Amino acid sequence: MKKLLLSITCLLLITFIYAQKTYIWCGTLIDGISNEPKKNMTIVVEKNKIVAIEHGFSSKTSASPAPAINIIDLKTKTVMPGWIDMHVHLEFETSPKRQIEGFTYNPADYAYQSVQFSEVTLLAGFTTVRDLAGSGVNISLRNAINKGWIKGPRVYTAGKAISTTGGHIDPTNGYRKDLMGDPGTLDGVANGADECRQAVRQRYKEGSDLIKITATGGVLSVAKSSSNPQFTEEEVKAIVETAKDYGFKVAVHAHGAEGMKRAIRAGVNSIEHGTLMDDETIALFIQYGTWYVPTLTAGAAVADSAKIPGYYPALVTPKALEIGPQIKATLAKAYKAGVKIAFGTDAGVYKHGMNWLEFGLMNEAGMPIMEIIKAATINAAELLGEKDKLGSIEAGKLADIVAVDGDPLKDVKVFGKVVFVMKDGVVYKQ
Ligand SMILES: [Zn+2]
Repeated sequence: MKKLLLSITCLLLITFIYAQKTYIWCGTLIDGISNEPKKNMTIVVEKNKIVAIEHGFSSKTSASPAPAINIIDLKTKTVMPGWIDMHVHLEFETSPKRQIEGFTYNPADYAYQSVQFSEVTLLAGFTTVRDLAGSGVNISLRNAINKGWIKGPRVYTAGKAISTTGGHIDPTNGYRKDLMGDPGTLDGVANGADECRQAVRQRYKEGSDLIKITATGGVLSVAKSSSNPQFTEEEVKAIVETAKDYGFKVAVHAHGAEGMKRAIRAGVNSIEHGTLMDDETIALFIQYGTWYVPTLTAGAAVADSAKIPGYYPALVTPKALEIGPQIKATLAKAYKAGVKIAFGTDAGVYKHGMNWLEFGLMNEAGMPIMEIIKAATINAAELLGEKDKLGSIEAGKLADIVAVDGDPLKDVKVFGKVVFVMKDGVVYKQ
Protein backbone atom coordinates (compact mmCIF):
# COMPACT_ATOMS: atom_id res chain seq x y z
CA MET A 1 0.00 0.00 0.00
CA LYS A 2 2.83 2.36 1.01
CA LYS A 3 4.61 1.52 -2.26
CA LEU A 4 1.47 2.23 -4.30
CA LEU A 5 0.96 5.63 -2.61
CA LEU A 6 4.60 6.49 -3.29
CA SER A 7 4.22 5.57 -6.97
CA ILE A 8 1.06 7.72 -7.29
CA THR A 9 2.80 10.66 -5.60
CA CYS A 10 5.76 10.31 -7.96
CA LEU A 11 3.46 10.17 -10.98
CA LEU A 12 1.59 13.29 -9.84
CA LEU A 13 4.87 15.11 -9.27
CA ILE A 14 6.15 14.19 -12.74
CA THR A 15 2.84 15.31 -14.32
CA PHE A 16 3.07 18.55 -12.34
CA ILE A 17 6.63 19.27 -13.51
CA TYR A 18 5.78 18.50 -17.12
CA ALA A 19 2.64 20.61 -17.02
CA GLN A 20 4.62 23.60 -15.78
CA LYS A 21 4.81 26.42 -18.25
CA THR A 22 7.14 29.39 -18.36
CA TYR A 23 5.71 32.75 -19.40
CA ILE A 24 8.33 35.14 -20.75
CA TRP A 25 7.08 38.72 -20.73
CA CYS A 26 8.75 40.65 -23.56
CA GLY A 27 8.73 44.46 -23.67
CA THR A 28 9.86 44.25 -27.31
CA LEU A 29 9.88 41.05 -29.34
CA ILE A 30 11.90 40.58 -32.55
CA ASP A 31 10.79 37.13 -33.68
CA GLY A 32 13.23 36.45 -36.56
CA ILE A 33 10.40 36.46 -39.13
CA SER A 34 8.64 39.85 -39.04
CA ASN A 35 10.44 43.07 -39.98
CA GLU A 36 8.47 44.92 -37.29
CA PRO A 37 9.30 44.46 -33.60
CA LYS A 38 6.19 43.72 -31.50
CA LYS A 39 5.50 45.45 -28.19
CA ASN A 40 4.26 43.78 -24.98
CA MET A 41 4.20 40.09 -25.89
CA THR A 42 4.39 36.83 -23.97
CA ILE A 43 6.28 33.72 -25.08
CA VAL A 44 4.93 30.53 -23.52
CA VAL A 45 7.52 27.77 -23.08
CA GLU A 46 6.81 24.20 -22.06
CA LYS A 47 9.69 21.77 -21.54
CA ASN A 48 12.18 22.67 -24.31
CA LYS A 49 9.70 24.14 -26.78
CA ILE A 50 7.89 27.36 -27.51
CA VAL A 51 4.19 26.48 -27.38
CA ALA A 52 2.50 29.86 -27.90
CA ILE A 53 3.06 33.57 -28.52
CA GLU A 54 0.43 35.81 -26.90
CA HIS A 55 -0.34 39.53 -26.96
CA GLY A 56 0.09 41.39 -23.67
CA PHE A 57 1.68 40.04 -20.49
CA SER A 58 -0.26 36.85 -19.92
CA SER A 59 0.05 33.97 -17.48
CA LYS A 60 -3.36 32.40 -17.91
CA THR A 61 -3.93 28.68 -18.06
CA SER A 62 -7.01 26.60 -18.80
CA ALA A 63 -5.67 23.59 -16.89
CA SER A 64 -7.57 22.61 -13.77
CA PRO A 65 -6.27 22.56 -11.14
CA ALA A 66 -4.05 25.41 -12.37
CA PRO A 67 -0.40 24.25 -12.42
CA ALA A 68 2.35 26.34 -10.91
CA ILE A 69 3.61 28.89 -13.38
CA ASN A 70 6.93 30.50 -13.83
CA ILE A 71 7.12 34.10 -15.02
CA ILE A 72 10.27 35.67 -16.48
CA ASP A 73 9.89 39.43 -16.56
CA LEU A 74 11.68 41.01 -19.54
CA LYS A 75 9.20 43.89 -19.84
CA THR A 76 12.02 46.43 -20.21
CA LYS A 77 14.14 44.30 -22.58
CA THR A 78 14.31 43.36 -26.27
CA VAL A 79 13.80 39.63 -26.81
CA MET A 80 15.03 37.68 -29.85
CA PRO A 81 15.61 34.11 -31.02
CA GLY A 82 18.95 32.74 -29.73
CA TRP A 83 21.72 33.82 -32.11
CA ILE A 84 23.51 31.38 -34.37
CA ASP A 85 27.19 31.80 -35.27
CA MET A 86 27.87 29.73 -38.38
CA HIS A 87 31.65 29.85 -38.08
CA VAL A 88 33.51 29.31 -34.81
CA HIS A 89 36.47 27.25 -33.57
CA LEU A 90 35.74 26.34 -29.96
CA GLU A 91 38.97 24.39 -29.41
CA PHE A 92 41.37 27.32 -29.52
CA GLU A 93 41.83 31.06 -29.22
CA THR A 94 44.21 33.49 -30.89
CA SER A 95 47.57 33.95 -29.20
CA PRO A 96 51.15 34.61 -30.31
CA LYS A 97 51.89 31.16 -28.81
CA ARG A 98 49.45 29.30 -31.11
CA GLN A 99 52.14 27.68 -33.27
CA ILE A 100 54.08 26.39 -30.27
CA GLU A 101 50.85 25.07 -28.69
CA GLY A 102 50.65 22.68 -31.66
CA PHE A 103 53.70 20.93 -30.21
CA THR A 104 53.01 21.25 -26.49
CA TYR A 105 49.24 20.75 -26.12
CA ASN A 106 47.65 17.35 -25.68
CA PRO A 107 44.07 16.75 -26.82
CA ALA A 108 43.01 17.09 -23.16
CA ASP A 109 44.46 20.63 -23.07
CA TYR A 110 42.31 21.59 -26.06
CA ALA A 111 39.34 19.93 -24.40
CA TYR A 112 39.74 21.80 -21.10
CA GLN A 113 40.24 25.18 -22.72
CA SER A 114 37.25 24.63 -25.00
CA VAL A 115 35.03 24.33 -21.90
CA GLN A 116 35.47 28.01 -21.02
CA PHE A 117 35.19 29.11 -24.66
CA SER A 118 31.88 27.25 -24.98
CA GLU A 119 30.45 28.82 -21.85
CA VAL A 120 31.34 32.42 -22.77
CA THR A 121 29.87 31.87 -26.24
CA LEU A 122 26.55 30.69 -24.81
CA LEU A 123 26.41 33.49 -22.22
CA ALA A 124 27.06 36.02 -25.03
CA GLY A 125 23.72 34.96 -26.51
CA PHE A 126 24.89 32.44 -29.11
CA THR A 127 22.74 29.39 -28.45
CA THR A 128 23.85 27.52 -31.59
CA VAL A 129 27.18 27.41 -33.45
CA ARG A 130 28.83 25.59 -36.32
CA ASP A 131 32.32 24.53 -35.26
CA LEU A 132 34.18 24.67 -38.56
CA ALA A 133 37.19 22.58 -37.67
CA GLY A 134 39.61 21.68 -34.96
CA SER A 135 41.61 18.61 -33.96
CA GLY A 136 38.51 16.45 -33.56
CA VAL A 137 38.12 17.29 -29.85
CA ASN A 138 35.19 19.43 -31.02
CA ILE A 139 33.16 16.22 -31.54
CA SER A 140 33.60 15.19 -27.90
CA LEU A 141 32.87 18.80 -26.93
CA ARG A 142 29.52 18.69 -28.74
CA ASN A 143 28.71 15.40 -26.99
CA ALA A 144 29.68 16.78 -23.56
CA ILE A 145 27.39 19.79 -24.05
CA ASN A 146 24.52 17.57 -25.24
CA LYS A 147 24.95 15.33 -22.18
CA GLY A 148 24.84 18.38 -19.90
CA TRP A 149 28.38 17.83 -18.57
CA ILE A 150 29.35 21.37 -19.49
CA LYS A 151 27.59 24.59 -20.54
CA GLY A 152 27.75 25.63 -24.15
CA PRO A 153 25.81 26.34 -27.30
CA ARG A 154 24.19 23.65 -29.43
CA VAL A 155 27.13 22.60 -31.62
CA TYR A 156 27.11 21.38 -35.21
CA THR A 157 30.70 20.33 -35.80
CA ALA A 158 32.78 19.58 -38.87
CA GLY A 159 35.33 17.71 -36.74
CA LYS A 160 38.55 18.02 -38.72
CA ALA A 161 38.47 20.06 -41.93
CA ILE A 162 39.61 18.57 -45.24
CA SER A 163 42.51 20.10 -47.11
CA THR A 164 45.07 19.09 -49.75
CA THR A 165 48.79 18.49 -49.09
CA GLY A 166 50.24 21.83 -47.97
CA GLY A 167 46.70 23.25 -48.11
CA HIS A 168 45.31 25.74 -45.64
CA ILE A 169 44.76 23.26 -42.78
CA ASP A 170 47.35 20.61 -43.54
CA PRO A 171 48.29 20.07 -39.85
CA THR A 172 52.05 19.93 -40.48
CA ASN A 173 52.44 23.14 -42.51
CA GLY A 174 55.56 25.03 -41.50
CA TYR A 175 57.12 22.08 -39.58
CA ARG A 176 60.69 21.00 -40.25
CA LYS A 177 60.98 18.14 -42.73
CA ASP A 178 61.34 15.19 -40.34
CA LEU A 179 58.26 16.32 -38.41
CA MET A 180 56.18 17.06 -41.51
CA GLY A 181 55.53 13.45 -42.46
CA ASP A 182 52.78 12.79 -44.97
CA PRO A 183 49.41 13.30 -43.27
CA GLY A 184 46.46 11.60 -44.96
CA THR A 185 42.69 11.38 -44.74
CA LEU A 186 42.77 10.54 -41.00
CA ASP A 187 44.32 13.98 -40.43
CA GLY A 188 42.05 15.67 -42.97
CA VAL A 189 44.48 15.76 -45.89
CA ALA A 190 43.21 14.34 -49.20
CA ASN A 191 44.47 14.43 -52.80
CA GLY A 192 42.52 13.13 -55.78
CA ALA A 193 38.82 12.25 -55.96
CA ASP A 194 39.18 8.86 -54.22
CA GLU A 195 40.93 10.26 -51.16
CA CYS A 196 38.41 13.10 -51.06
CA ARG A 197 35.59 10.57 -50.85
CA GLN A 198 37.49 8.64 -48.19
CA ALA A 199 38.08 11.80 -46.15
CA VAL A 200 34.33 12.52 -46.09
CA ARG A 201 33.57 8.95 -45.02
CA GLN A 202 36.21 9.22 -42.29
CA ARG A 203 34.44 12.33 -40.91
CA TYR A 204 31.20 10.34 -40.88
CA LYS A 205 32.90 7.56 -38.92
CA GLU A 206 34.26 10.07 -36.40
CA GLY A 207 30.86 11.69 -35.84
CA SER A 208 31.01 15.02 -37.70
CA ASP A 209 27.74 16.84 -38.46
CA LEU A 210 28.94 18.51 -41.65
CA ILE A 211 32.00 18.82 -43.89
CA LYS A 212 34.40 21.75 -43.99
CA ILE A 213 36.99 22.05 -46.74
CA THR A 214 39.65 24.65 -47.45
CA ALA A 215 39.30 25.43 -51.16
CA THR A 216 41.97 28.14 -51.22
CA GLY A 217 44.95 29.28 -49.21
CA GLY A 218 44.25 31.10 -45.96
CA VAL A 219 45.64 33.75 -43.67
CA LEU A 220 46.74 31.87 -40.55
CA SER A 221 48.39 28.82 -42.15
CA VAL A 222 52.17 28.91 -42.25
CA ALA A 223 52.20 28.87 -46.06
CA LYS A 224 52.79 31.44 -48.73
CA SER A 225 49.46 32.06 -50.48
CA SER A 226 46.33 33.45 -48.87
CA SER A 227 44.10 32.72 -51.80
CA ASN A 228 45.34 30.25 -54.46
CA PRO A 229 42.96 27.42 -55.49
CA GLN A 230 43.87 24.22 -53.61
CA PHE A 231 41.38 21.61 -54.83
CA THR A 232 40.52 20.73 -58.41
CA GLU A 233 36.85 21.02 -59.34
CA GLU A 234 36.73 17.23 -59.72
CA GLU A 235 37.96 16.83 -56.13
CA VAL A 236 35.34 19.23 -54.74
CA LYS A 237 32.65 17.41 -56.75
CA ALA A 238 33.74 14.10 -55.21
CA ILE A 239 33.46 15.69 -51.74
CA VAL A 240 30.02 17.18 -52.38
CA GLU A 241 28.61 13.98 -53.92
CA THR A 242 29.88 11.85 -51.04
CA ALA A 243 28.71 14.38 -48.45
CA LYS A 244 25.18 14.14 -49.89
CA ASP A 245 25.23 10.36 -49.37
CA TYR A 246 25.77 10.97 -45.66
CA GLY A 247 23.39 13.92 -45.23
CA PHE A 248 26.28 16.37 -44.77
CA LYS A 249 26.29 20.00 -45.89
CA VAL A 250 29.62 21.35 -47.15
CA ALA A 251 31.12 24.60 -45.84
CA VAL A 252 34.06 26.02 -47.76
CA HIS A 253 36.89 28.25 -46.60
CA ALA A 254 37.86 30.46 -49.58
CA HIS A 255 39.48 33.84 -50.17
CA GLY A 256 40.42 33.61 -53.87
CA ALA A 257 37.88 33.80 -56.69
CA GLU A 258 39.01 30.73 -58.67
CA GLY A 259 38.69 28.38 -55.67
CA MET A 260 35.26 29.86 -54.85
CA LYS A 261 34.02 29.39 -58.42
CA ARG A 262 35.09 25.74 -58.51
CA ALA A 263 33.40 25.10 -55.16
CA ILE A 264 30.15 26.86 -56.06
CA ARG A 265 29.90 25.00 -59.38
CA ALA A 266 30.55 21.74 -57.52
CA GLY A 267 27.45 22.44 -55.40
CA VAL A 268 28.75 23.34 -51.93
CA ASN A 269 26.38 24.98 -49.42
CA SER A 270 28.36 27.93 -48.04
CA ILE A 271 31.47 29.96 -48.78
CA GLU A 272 33.26 31.32 -45.70
CA HIS A 273 35.21 34.64 -45.85
CA GLY A 274 34.87 35.00 -49.67
CA THR A 275 37.26 37.95 -49.61
CA LEU A 276 38.34 38.28 -53.24
CA MET A 277 35.06 37.40 -54.95
CA ASP A 278 34.66 39.17 -58.31
CA ASP A 279 31.47 39.94 -60.25
CA GLU A 280 31.56 36.58 -61.99
CA THR A 281 31.74 34.82 -58.60
CA ILE A 282 28.83 36.89 -57.28
CA ALA A 283 26.78 35.84 -60.32
CA LEU A 284 27.57 32.19 -59.51
CA PHE A 285 26.49 32.67 -55.86
CA ILE A 286 23.12 33.91 -57.13
CA GLN A 287 22.79 31.24 -59.82
CA TYR A 288 23.52 28.35 -57.43
CA GLY A 289 21.83 29.82 -54.34
CA THR A 290 25.08 29.42 -52.38
CA TRP A 291 25.26 31.06 -48.94
CA TYR A 292 27.92 33.57 -47.99
CA VAL A 293 29.29 33.67 -44.41
CA PRO A 294 31.49 36.81 -44.24
CA THR A 295 33.39 36.58 -40.86
CA LEU A 296 34.19 40.31 -40.70
CA THR A 297 35.29 40.15 -37.05
CA ALA A 298 38.08 37.75 -37.97
CA GLY A 299 39.18 40.02 -40.83
CA ALA A 300 39.41 43.03 -38.52
CA ALA A 301 41.10 41.04 -35.72
CA VAL A 302 43.86 39.47 -37.83
CA ALA A 303 44.72 42.84 -39.39
CA ASP A 304 45.00 44.34 -35.87
CA SER A 305 47.07 41.48 -34.44
CA ALA A 306 49.42 41.54 -37.47
CA LYS A 307 50.45 45.07 -36.46
CA ILE A 308 51.91 43.68 -33.19
CA PRO A 309 55.52 42.65 -33.96
CA GLY A 310 56.02 38.88 -33.64
CA TYR A 311 52.34 38.08 -33.02
CA TYR A 312 52.14 35.83 -36.10
CA PRO A 313 54.83 33.76 -37.89
CA ALA A 314 56.61 35.79 -40.59
CA LEU A 315 54.72 34.13 -43.48
CA VAL A 316 51.35 35.00 -41.90
CA THR A 317 51.76 38.71 -41.14
CA PRO A 318 51.63 40.08 -44.73
CA LYS A 319 48.62 37.86 -45.54
CA ALA A 320 46.72 39.14 -42.48
CA LEU A 321 47.47 42.75 -43.43
CA GLU A 322 46.38 42.14 -47.04
CA ILE A 323 43.22 40.04 -46.61
CA GLY A 324 41.80 41.24 -43.27
CA PRO A 325 40.76 44.77 -44.23
CA GLN A 326 39.11 43.71 -47.52
CA ILE A 327 36.25 41.51 -46.29
CA LYS A 328 33.94 44.35 -45.24
CA ALA A 329 33.86 45.83 -48.77
CA THR A 330 33.23 42.31 -50.12
CA LEU A 331 30.16 41.93 -47.91
CA ALA A 332 28.90 45.36 -49.01
CA LYS A 333 29.12 44.26 -52.65
CA ALA A 334 27.62 40.80 -52.08
CA TYR A 335 24.73 42.14 -49.99
CA LYS A 336 23.83 44.76 -52.62
CA ALA A 337 23.88 42.07 -55.32
CA GLY A 338 21.40 39.92 -53.35
CA VAL A 339 23.69 37.07 -52.25
CA LYS A 340 22.16 35.02 -49.38
CA ILE A 341 24.01 35.89 -46.19
CA ALA A 342 24.34 33.94 -42.93
CA PHE A 343 26.06 35.29 -39.82
CA GLY A 344 29.47 33.86 -38.93
CA THR A 345 32.48 35.31 -37.15
CA ASP A 346 35.43 32.83 -37.05
CA ALA A 347 35.54 33.11 -33.22
CA GLY A 348 38.81 31.65 -31.98
CA VAL A 349 40.68 33.71 -34.57
CA TYR A 350 39.70 36.49 -32.12
CA LYS A 351 38.54 36.25 -28.48
CA HIS A 352 35.54 33.98 -27.80
CA GLY A 353 32.44 35.72 -26.45
CA MET A 354 32.98 38.83 -28.59
CA ASN A 355 30.99 37.32 -31.48
CA TRP A 356 28.47 40.17 -31.16
CA LEU A 357 30.99 42.60 -32.71
CA GLU A 358 29.98 41.10 -36.07
CA PHE A 359 26.57 42.83 -35.84
CA GLY A 360 28.27 46.25 -35.85
CA LEU A 361 30.73 45.39 -38.63
CA MET A 362 27.98 43.99 -40.88
CA ASN A 363 25.99 47.15 -40.24
CA GLU A 364 29.02 49.26 -41.25
CA ALA A 365 29.08 47.23 -44.50
CA GLY A 366 25.58 48.50 -45.25
CA MET A 367 23.28 45.76 -43.94
CA PRO A 368 20.28 47.03 -41.98
CA ILE A 369 20.27 45.67 -38.41
CA MET A 370 17.01 43.75 -38.87
CA GLU A 371 18.60 41.94 -41.84
CA ILE A 372 21.65 41.09 -39.73
CA ILE A 373 19.42 39.68 -36.98
CA LYS A 374 17.79 37.45 -39.62
CA ALA A 375 21.24 36.41 -40.88
CA ALA A 376 22.03 35.35 -37.29
CA THR A 377 18.70 33.56 -36.72
CA ILE A 378 16.31 32.33 -39.41
CA ASN A 379 18.81 32.44 -42.32
CA ALA A 380 21.47 30.63 -40.32
CA ALA A 381 18.87 28.01 -39.34
CA GLU A 382 18.04 27.52 -43.01
CA LEU A 383 21.70 27.01 -43.94
CA LEU A 384 22.00 24.51 -41.06
CA GLY A 385 19.01 22.63 -42.46
CA GLU A 386 17.21 23.14 -39.10
CA LYS A 387 14.64 25.81 -40.01
CA ASP A 388 11.82 23.70 -38.56
CA LYS A 389 13.52 23.70 -35.12
CA LEU A 390 15.62 26.87 -34.84
CA GLY A 391 15.92 30.52 -35.85
CA SER A 392 12.62 32.14 -34.87
CA ILE A 393 10.23 32.63 -31.99
CA GLU A 394 7.26 30.62 -33.18
CA ALA A 395 5.12 27.89 -31.64
CA GLY A 396 6.71 24.49 -32.17
CA LYS A 397 10.33 25.70 -32.27
CA LEU A 398 12.98 24.91 -29.66
CA ALA A 399 13.06 27.45 -26.82
CA ASP A 400 16.31 29.24 -27.68
CA ILE A 401 15.71 32.81 -26.54
CA VAL A 402 17.96 35.78 -25.73
CA ALA A 403 17.27 39.29 -24.44
CA VAL A 404 19.32 42.47 -24.54
CA ASP A 405 19.12 45.64 -22.49
CA GLY A 406 18.19 48.42 -24.93
CA ASP A 407 17.09 48.84 -28.53
CA PRO A 408 19.48 46.95 -30.83
CA LEU A 409 17.85 48.51 -33.90
CA LYS A 410 19.07 51.94 -32.75
CA ASP A 411 22.41 51.04 -31.15
CA VAL A 412 24.53 48.03 -32.21
CA LYS A 413 26.45 48.10 -28.93
CA VAL A 414 23.27 46.72 -27.33
CA PHE A 415 24.16 43.29 -28.84
CA GLY A 416 26.95 43.20 -26.27
CA LYS A 417 24.48 43.69 -23.41
CA VAL A 418 22.90 40.24 -23.20
CA VAL A 419 20.85 39.92 -19.99
CA PHE A 420 18.97 36.68 -20.60
CA VAL A 421 19.86 33.39 -22.30
CA MET A 422 17.62 30.33 -22.60
CA LYS A 423 18.74 27.30 -24.60
CA ASP A 424 16.50 24.30 -25.15
CA GLY A 425 14.11 25.63 -22.47
CA VAL A 426 16.85 25.95 -19.82
CA VAL A 427 17.81 29.38 -18.47
CA TYR A 428 21.59 29.96 -18.44
CA LYS A 429 21.64 33.69 -17.74
CA GLN A 430 19.05 35.91 -16.10
ZN1 LIG B 1 37.64 29.51 -39.54
